[in-house]
Amino acid sequence: MAKRDYYEVLGVSKTSTEQEIKSAYRKLAKKYHPDMNKESGAEEKFKEVNEAASVLLDADKKAKYDQFGHAAFDGSSGFGGSGFGGFEDFFSNMGGGMDFGDIFSDLFGGGRSGRSSRRGPSKGQDIGLEATLTFKELVFGVNKKTILNLVKTCAKCDGAGAENPSDVHTCTKCNGAGQIIVNKQMGPFQVQNQVTCDKCNGVGKEFKSKCKSCHGKGVESKREEVEIPLPKGLWPGQQFVMRGKGHASLEGGIPGDLYITIGIVKSDVFELIPNSNDLIMNYNISYLDAILGNEVIIKTLDGPVRLKIPKGVHSGQLIKVHDKGLYKNQTSDKRGDLLIKISISVPTSVSKEEKKILKELEELSNFEPKNIID
Ligand SMILES: [Zn+2]
Ligand SMILES: [Zn+2]
Repeated sequence: MAKRDYYEVLGVSKTSTEQEIKSAYRKLAKKYHPDMNKESGAEEKFKEVNEAASVLLDADKKAKYDQFGHAAFDGSSGFGGSGFGGFEDFFSNMGGGMDFGDIFSDLFGGGRSGRSSRRGPSKGQDIGLEATLTFKELVFGVNKKTILNLVKTCAKCDGAGAENPSDVHTCTKCNGAGQIIVNKQMGPFQVQNQVTCDKCNGVGKEFKSKCKSCHGKGVESKREEVEIPLPKGLWPGQQFVMRGKGHASLEGGIPGDLYITIGIVKSDVFELIPNSNDLIMNYNISYLDAILGNEVIIKTLDGPVRLKIPKGVHSGQLIKVHDKGLYKNQTSDKRGDLLIKISISVPTSVSKEEKKILKELEELSNFEPKNIID
């Protein structure tokens, strides 16, 4: 399927301001957030909206997109596209290294707003992914692997950017600080501003010849397989953070973080209960087991479990299996219950012999289902 135009996705135009794009994105992200919208297709919309926003709210990416369209991020264009494409199918991009900061703070309870405004080389960009888990993976945890286009510290020059390590010396403009003070006239006032040194781009170092591998940038774009050890006891919508697993800093600072938002595959079998550790499992039993109150063996997330069907069970009845629900959290060993939601199955056709017995049973039985009519 062809990718939709990012402007179309957010319902904005090329002349829309950043504020207008942010506002449109916020509305749509809330509308389609998997925690709030259970409609089919909402999750795909949510991803689409996030992807569009990650480009249109990033000046560099927006400029590239305006010029080249989706081709700008096909993964061959270097850093601009890093974070896009190449994911295994259980991961989908949620932002390609964009700093969602204030946009996400109201959606994710401020989980991403821990950025400090300290001076010095800026941190590498964060990466946002979504991992869609099965119920089994959600409960017991899973090791997910994915391929990421990462900005990495250049292996040849170890981030220095110089062809010869002996060639590196302190920047003469900022004396190695990476920052310089500029005086700016604001009306009658002389204002001092601290800005990134333009001679060394904030690195604080200079050298004669650039590293041939990274062209002096100190970083390189690399496709790398990343292992994501997701623990037990996660919840849909929860964010799992791997510190330092994002992009390398372009200025020699600490690397960014990898944020994984937990999603859940759609299931006809399992149902979550809001604000509960209990888990509903839909289960079909034979009408004979229902009448006779037999013991059945059901396959749960924990493996086969014996279940005694209470006599006179009705469809929709919940039978509790203790401590086989969701973990309270990642660190707790406490689990909720598994609630087996019974559905009584009746055969669509029976053999001649069965029919004969059922006819006899019909004559013998005085069972009448109860109906209440006002
Ligand atoms: Zn400098
Ligand atoms: Zn290099």
